[in-house]
Amino acid sequence: MRIPLKEVTPELQSAEVIGWIHEIRNLGGLSFFILRDRTGFLQATIIKKKAPEAVLEAAKDVSRESVVKIVGTVKESDKAPGGREIIPEQFEIISKAETPLPLDVSEKVLAEVDTRLDNRYLDARRPKVSAVFQVRSAVTRAVSEYFYKEGYINITTSKIVAAATEGGTELFPIAYFEKEAFLNQSPQLYKQMMMAAGFEKVFEIGPIFRAEEHNTTRHLNEATSIDAEISFADHNDVMKILEDVIIAAYEYVDKNCTDAIETLGVDLKVPGKNFPKITYAEAIDMAAVSTNEDIKYGDDLSTSAERAIGEEMGEHYFITDWPTSIKPYYAMPYEDDPKICKAFDMMHPRMELSSGAQRIHQYDLLVEQIKQKGLSPESFEFYLKPFRYGMPPHAGWGVGMDRLIMTMLDLPNIREAVLFPRDRHRVTP
Ligand code: ATP
Ligand code: MG
Repeated sequence: MRIPLKEVTPELQSAEVIGWIHEIRNLGGLSFFILRDRTGFLQATIIKKKAPEAVLEAAKDVSRESVVKIVGTVKESDKAPGGREIIPEQFEIISKAETPLPLDVSEKVLAEVDTRLDNRYLDARRPKVSAVFQVRSAVTRAVSEYFYKEGYINITTSKIVAAATEGGTELFPIAYFEKEAFLNQSPQLYKQMMMAAGFEKVFEIGPIFRAEEHNTTRHLNEATSIDAEISFADHNDVMKILEDVIIAAYEYVDKNCTDAIETLGVDLKVPGKNFPKITYAEAIDMAAVSTNEDIKYGDDLSTSAERAIGEEMGEHYFITDWPTSIKPYYAMPYEDDPKICKAFDMMHPRMELSSGAQRIHQYDLLVEQIKQKGLSPESFEFYLKPFRYGMPPHAGWGVGMDRLIMTMLDLPNIREAVLFPRDRHRVTP
C-alpha cells in the first residue's frame, strides 16, 4: 500500500510511495529525486554503483512532474527534507510528464497570474497554492458546522431566475427556451421567502453572479456567498451572529490548518469579539479627513475611502445606519428617522466582506420602497406575495467567501482564493 510522504519514517524500514517528481539533481555517482505529494516531500537517493539496473533505466528516463512509484528502504539522512530518504529498489514511471512544462512548479518565484490560472492543475501542485484551498475547505466546514450547531437549515436556491434581485444591469442573461432568464446575483429574495415559509434560520453557501465590468483584485463575475437569514431577529442580532461566524472560521483554521498556515507563512490573528461599530456618518467624516476627497453624505464609500477608514480601524468593524437611499429597497428604515436604515456592512481593514440588514417585513412599506427605487412592484410579484400572508420580522447578511479567504490569508488578489476564477477576460479553464 502507498504511504503518504509525510508518514514515511526510518522506523518503517521499507516503504512504497507514489508522488510527483518535484526536483531532479545529478551529482556524479549520486542522483536525488525529490518526490512530492499533498502531504509533503521525500528524497529518493540513487547510488549509481549499487542501484539495480531497472532503477537506473527508469531514473534516467523520468522527467520533472512525472508520477512515479518507488519501493525501497528508508534511512535517516540529515541533509534530506524531513531528515530521511528512500533508497529505491523499484522505480516505476506511472505517468510521464512531457517537457517542457507549461509552468515550473518548483520555481520559488510564482509565474504571472494568467499563466498560472491557464495551468491551474499544475499551479495547484505548488504547496503554497494547495494550502489556500485546504484553508478554504476548512472555512466552508467551520461555517457549516457553526450553522448546523445553531439549528439552521441548509438551503439550496435556484441560480436561474426571471428577475434581478435589486434591479439594475449587473445580470448575465441566459438562453432559457422561449423566455428571458438570468443567473442570480444573490439568494436574497429566496432566503427571505423561506422566512415566510417558517424555516426561521437558513443558510446557503453558493455561487452569485455579477455582470460587473470592472476588473479589480477584489471582484469576480462569479463569487461564492455565505448567506444567512434569521426570523425574529433584528440588525443587531445578526451582526452578532456574523461576528461569531467569522471568529469561528478563524478559530477552526488556527486549530486545524497549522501545516497550511505554516506553508503560507501567514500570521493568522483570530479577531477579537465585539467588532467596533461606526455609523455611516462617522465613516464619511473619517474618510473626508484622511483622503482629501470631496465625500458627501449619501455617497457610496469609494475604494480609497474604505482603505482610509480601514487603516484607522485596524481590525474587523461594522459600518451601521446607512442612508436609506443607497441601500437596497428591502433594508428596514428606522421608524423615527426613515432617511437612515438598519443596514450594515462588515469590513476587513482592506475591504468590505459583508452586507446585511434587518429587512422590511411589511408588505405596504416594501412596495413603497420598491417604487422609491424606481423599480416596478409587478416584476417582483413572486417575492412580494409572501409578504401578504404572514411574514415574520427577519434579518440577515451575505459574506463573500472569496474575500474572506483572501483577507484571512493576506492574498494580494481574489483570484488566488478561487480555483477557476471568472472575470471579464476569463471563462476557461
Ligand atoms: P462591493 O461594493 O465591494 O463591490 P457589493 O456591496 O456590491 O460589494 P454585496 O451585493 O453587498 O456586494 O454582496 C455581499 C458580499 O458579497 C460583498 O460584501 C462581497 O464580500 C461579496 N461580493 C459581492 N460582489 C462580489 C464580486 N463581484 N466578487 C467577489 N465578491 C463579491
Ligand atoms: Mg455591499
